[in-house]
Amino acid sequence: MSETVRPGVLYVVSTPIGNLEDISQRAIRILKDVDIIAAEDTRTTGRLLKHLGITKKLLSYHSYNEARRAPQLLALLTDGKSVGLVTDAGTPGISDPAFEILRLVVENGIIVVPIPGPSAVLSALVVSGLPFHRFVFEGFLPVKKGRATRLDRLKNEERTVVLYESPHRILKTVNDIRTVLGERQITVARELTKKFEEVVRGTVSEVLTRLESKGPKGEYVIVIAGVDYESGAAKHSNN
Ligand code: SAM
Repeated sequence: MSETVRPGVLYVVSTPIGNLEDISQRAIRILKDVDIIAAEDTRTTGRLLKHLGITKKLLSYHSYNEARRAPQLLALLTDGKSVGLVTDAGTPGISDPAFEILRLVVENGIIVVPIPGPSAVLSALVVSGLPFHRFVFEGFLPVKKGRATRLDRLKNEERTVVLYESPHRILKTVNDIRTVLGERQITVARELTKKFEEVVRGTVSEVLTRLESKGPKGEYVIVIAGVDYESGAAKHSNN
């Protein structure tokens, strides 16, 4: 049974991370029916909406204007408008803006409805071959300050760790992982759901050699085995 969009409700809508077919029927209907779509980049979302045949009023928000946009969106919601919240790709708030908006609207008693869908973190985990019954998502490592400390804190982490990385820093980050965490098993997933999707598994050195030989291109997720993985403790455990 299809639900109707409710006035004054914020819908957090996940969108594809590459392949445009990865959008749910429900997401399409919600995007069609809401009064306004708040988008991280109106051009990117405009392209998706065009592909879906949707014409809609778009309001942009970015990490740098989110604090200013949040009260405006709250006012629209309080006024009874229904709003769809999207980012450029995947699930809003996952290494993306959205949190400031979500915090403010939740604090003000607005109903928030998730419209689940793609996220690179889960897609990478399921193809990693590493245990993911428990995992830690670290997002992007800091570019400069705090980078070493953050990696150092992961040294004794038992759970599988997931990082996001850009093509500019993937080699440096995998190198830093080897320096700080040692020769762990890792999986690097590139361009998931896209034409050049690739999953490389092995020790950090093996993966690094492969990445260096291919040249860094595209978007990356790094999945790192927890500290006890090699001992077998976590390999087959499901709890
Ligand atoms: N909100 C998104 C999500 O739910 O996954 C993440 C947005 S974040 C700004 C972008 C980063 O996510 C990229 O640098 C990369 O690390 C990861 N990512 C996004 N799409 C990806 C894809 N198709 N393949 C691999 N990694 C991806």
